[in-house]
Amino acid sequence: MNTKTKRTPLSSFGEFGLIEHLTESLKIINRSTHKAVGDDAAVMDYGAKYAVASTDILLEGIHFDLTYTPLKHLGYKAATVNFSDIYAMNAQPAQLLVAIGISSRFCVEDIEQIYEGIKLACKTYNVDLVGGDTSTSLTGLTLSLTALGEADKEKICCRNGAKPNDLICLTGNLGAAYMGLQLLEREKKVFEGNADIQPQFDGYDYVLQRFLKPEARRDIIDAMADADIVPTSMIDISDGLSSEIMHICKQSNTGARIYLERIPIASQTFKIAEEMGIDAVTAALNGGEDYELLFTLPLALRDRIKDLGGIDVIGHITEAQTGSYLITPDGSEIMLQAQGWQHV
Ligand code: ADP
Ligand code: MG
Repeated sequence: MNTKTKRTPLSSFGEFGLIEHLTESLKIINRSTHKAVGDDAAVMDYGAKYAVASTDILLEGIHFDLTYTPLKHLGYKAATVNFSDIYAMNAQPAQLLVAIGISSRFCVEDIEQIYEGIKLACKTYNVDLVGGDTSTSLTGLTLSLTALGEADKEKICCRNGAKPNDLICLTGNLGAAYMGLQLLEREKKVFEGNADIQPQFDGYDYVLQRFLKPEARRDIIDAMADADIVPTSMIDISDGLSSEIMHICKQSNTGARIYLERIPIASQTFKIAEEMGIDAVTAALNGGEDYELLFTLPLALRDRIKDLGGIDVIGHITEAQTGSYLITPDGSEIMLQAQGWQHV
């Protein structure tokens, strides 16, 4: 604990502000460090290719709730969200390191379940589990996974390459994972109120799967490679569309215009959002955990990207001074805002 008299509350920084504060004075001393803090993954130059590395921590009670998260799913998700960060660099994941903190509440079979999930994800995405660390914990379960990957030097995609007039493209649809989480939280409350009532999940399979067992978009990365398409910038959606587009704009020094009616939202997401009194567009903009890819492309590639299928053009990049806005169907402009976690 800091013993100096000045004690600045974390709330005055927020997640992104804190990272910036902690890392702004870092000096790069190795020539092999090509890109440090600030993207989906760090990039190292070891010769013919770039190596990329990304790490994520998952804490019980903060990132997952074991009352409704099966341990195998937890392991699978912990791995795929790391792979997603590697794909977001237009790279391929190849190795995974797994650090785990375990409290005495857990038994060997529990940890085996987590590893079943991690191993399944590794098999699905052709990744080798090559190491990690294991410790006891006083405060529940902690998982910290680090994925390593490689990228062709001419194909790596960072957050800072977007140019005015580029198309803003998005894979899949948004908001489903957030609605899956809301549904699980609702059923948990019902269950806690009366243990005889069984949770009602019929007809909600899609949103639940999107939250509990997300996939990384390797299919899109491979399809773009086959079609010789290299985005000018790319990021994966972990914190919500609004936040991620702001990252691209900030790092590329641009603005953006996103058209509300073009944001893809699945019918099941709409249905559940309506049922729960939540605005589906807000879920899409700010919900997060979609692990879709958001990327920018020169306007000239519009037809080629549409031919790939499964990708929507949702807006375009503008000059920095025009700001970042969501345009509603009636032409109103709403300023986009970054989310990330905030201490309250
Ligand atoms: P993502 O959502 O893609 O995982 P984050 O918002 O977690 O990205 O992180 C943004 C950038 O900040 C990344 O480059 C990450 O490596 C870096 N970063 C996050 N936390 C820290 C930290 N405590 N110290 C140094 N760098 C950090
Ligand atoms: Mg990311």
